[in-house]
Amino acid sequence: RAKSAGRNQIAFFESAMQFEVEQRLTIERDLAEAMASNQLQMYLQPQVDCEGQAVGAELLMRWNHPGRSEVSPAIFIPVAEESGMILRLGDWVLRQGCLTLVRLAEAGKAMPISINVSPKQFRQSDFVEKVRAVLDETGAPPSLLILEVTEGLLIDNLEDTIARMLQLTSLGVRFSIDDFGTGYSSLAYLKRLPLYELKIDKSFVQDAPADPSDTAIVQSILSMAKHLGLRVVAEGVETREQADFLIASGCDSLQGYLFARPMPVSEWLETGLCHRQPELLKL
Ligand code: C2E
Ligand code: MG
Ligand code: MG
Ligand code: MG
Repeated sequence: RAKSAGRNQIAFFESAMQFEVEQRLTIERDLAEAMASNQLQMYLQPQVDCEGQAVGAELLMRWNHPGRSEVSPAIFIPVAEESGMILRLGDWVLRQGCLTLVRLAEAGKAMPISINVSPKQFRQSDFVEKVRAVLDETGAPPSLLILEVTEGLLIDNLEDTIARMLQLTSLGVRFSIDDFGTGYSSLAYLKRLPLYELKIDKSFVQDAPADPSDTAIVQSILSMAKHLGLRVVAEGVETREQADFLIASGCDSLQGYLFARPMPVSEWLETGLCHRQPELLKL
């Protein structure tokens, strides 16, 4: 009986793996189609200060797949990353980021916009050139463009990463470390990088301030960031308690469902977010 149970288990794993492989291939194929047929859209999620004013926004990709319900970027971005398609997607996102900056500025609502840059995208030999070209072509103000990178980028090729970041900061763009605290990199690099900001990962925010360990982690990140002169954004803020705790601990801005879910840029412009609903956002 043990033997047949083992066999069943193997069969189970094999079919699960098969499913995963098939799903990956389907996503890969559909993603190419999605780019060509405008199924991809960029949404904006506000980052608010202690007065509830939107002081920036993160641009997040959404995929309206005709055959399925919404596919999360948490699923398709890693697939795109593996297949190399992230390079085309990344070019598109960069352009969308700049176009959005211009659109907001034209509406009199200019503010910094953060875009996510994947490691493969950052490591392209012509990445700096691409950023410079898109900024030139769109006329987007470089100082309002924030590039979010992850700690993974800092583990290998640190010298190359620093050199490239310096080239980009000399164009005027700024850097933010996304999902801070979840990577395996050493803290020693922090002082060597031309950083503007850290984003505290939502996994630490989720159980704060009730969980003493998460609370301590959040406070340590804030204290370190302060000493290094870095701005701090907390992501995944869903409750008033979290918001109060984060602001009291010195966090500069907050991003999360408590304030707003990511929304299409047109909706952002219509609602006038930071101006018309101050009482809703008041902390
Ligand atoms: P991320 O960059 O860390 O983005 C934050 C994620 O948290 C977003 O998930 C956002 O919708 C979600 N979020 C915001 N507020 C809350 C909250 O209060 N509670 C919870 N539970 N979640 C919240 P999303 O949009 O599903 O994106 C997932 C990840 O996919 C992103 O994580 C980013 O790593 C990646 N991604 C999304 N768009 C792009 C893109 O254009 N380019 C690249 N390279 N990666 C992207
Ligand atoms: Mg991000
Ligand atoms: Mg994040
Ligand atoms: Mg993430």
